[in-house]
Amino acid sequence: MTLPSDSLSSPYYKEPGPKLDKESPFESMMERFRFAATVLELEEGMFQYLSNPVKSVTVSIPIIMDNGKIRVFEGHRVIHDNVLGPAKGGIRYKPDVTLDEVKALAAWMTWKCAVVNVPFGGAKGAIRCNPKELSLRELEQVTRRYTSEMMDVIGPDRDIPAPDMNTNEQVMAWIMDTYSMHARKTENAVVTGKPVVLGGSKGRKEATGRGVVTVTLAALNKSGIMANKCTVAIQGFGNVGSVTARLLYEQGARIIAISDISGGYHNSNGIDIVRALDYAAGHGGSLEGFDGAEAISNEALLELECDVLIPAALQDQINKRNAGQIKAKIIVEGANGPVTASADSILDEAGIMIIPDILANAGGVTVSYFEWVQNRHGYFWTEDRVNRRLNRMMREAFHRLFDVKEQYGITLRQAAYVYAIGKVAETLRLRGIYA
Ligand code: GLU
Repeated sequence: MTLPSDSLSSPYYKEPGPKLDKESPFESMMERFRFAATVLELEEGMFQYLSNPVKSVTVSIPIIMDNGKIRVFEGHRVIHDNVLGPAKGGIRYKPDVTLDEVKALAAWMTWKCAVVNVPFGGAKGAIRCNPKELSLRELEQVTRRYTSEMMDVIGPDRDIPAPDMNTNEQVMAWIMDTYSMHARKTENAVVTGKPVVLGGSKGRKEATGRGVVTVTLAALNKSGIMANKCTVAIQGFGNVGSVTARLLYEQGARIIAISDISGGYHNSNGIDIVRALDYAAGHGGSLEGFDGAEAISNEALLELECDVLIPAALQDQINKRNAGQIKAKIIVEGANGPVTASADSILDEAGIMIIPDILANAGGVTVSYFEWVQNRHGYFWTEDRVNRRLNRMMREAFHRLFDVKEQYGITLRQAAYVYAIGKVAETLRLRGIYA
């Protein structure tokens, strides 16, 4: 479907001030949001409501560094929306993070939760820091001070953080402890992605990769490609990329390329993923020097001939500069925002099916939801139960969006936005505006 020609004069297409940069995460998100708003004929007030975060908090985080000097970090937490339930989303530690990026990621969480029918709104947090340059003690101080500054924002019924870029189980444990100390009681439902001994869910760590695999298999099925005959290239060998590689390998897929920050590794006969995992485990998590394949660049990996390409590393990897070179039949977005809005149309024209991030990597937040439910029940599920329910929710979401795609004659990404925005708007109409 193309946009109706008069949509350019609709309120959604008035360009505010300088020309929009479709390559920035916020504008990539807004571009897709505007399209869905037009398809849904969303009223202007609703459009405005959903384009602005409910709350955006920036705090200063002073800590005493190991050298005895004070240093002040900047922290953000953005609640994009809480119409469907408490807000939910990760916290990232990144040296160049901007409020703009956090706003886009918070909105993505709203749409992501809506897509998989998880009863949460969307949020995201960040601290502008380079965790590699901080000692463990400094990292703990930064985390605890951020948490105490955000006491009025986060909470099990308000806004529930989780891991994201450069944050992990330990960081979640510190947040949970700091919050609990202030609350004078143990509140394990305030964060998800905790260590299992602290009330984390079995299967949470693998959940994003497992969800990526579920939707990849569903997409292969729709395309008439057998999983045990397909070729796959995966960018990123962190939590998402490595679990995805392992599970697809177990399904008999030929993984022809993997990569991490040290570069790409290509073998058209297929990489032995068990060996690659062992190699990384023995080399501090890095693939550097892995000899089961020929070394290529991360950029070249994206342009390989394959059935499925899974960018599971950083945002903006496929953009207007390299989109024309992509040869995969299906792209599954393991990362958040790996394809920019300007690349979308080039890939669509080439007939490449994209499984959008807000569906493809929603397995993480789905099991976060299971973790929160278990914490609130004070009861724990088996890993098998977690995985079965995760697979079911991901499969159902894929087919739901596929139906929307067929109904409107749009892409799967557009269908995801149409479904999610339609659902949040409908809920908001029922709840009404409190004044
Ligand atoms: N940070 C993950 C995401 O982007 C997980 C969020 C969560 O579990 O709340 O989806």
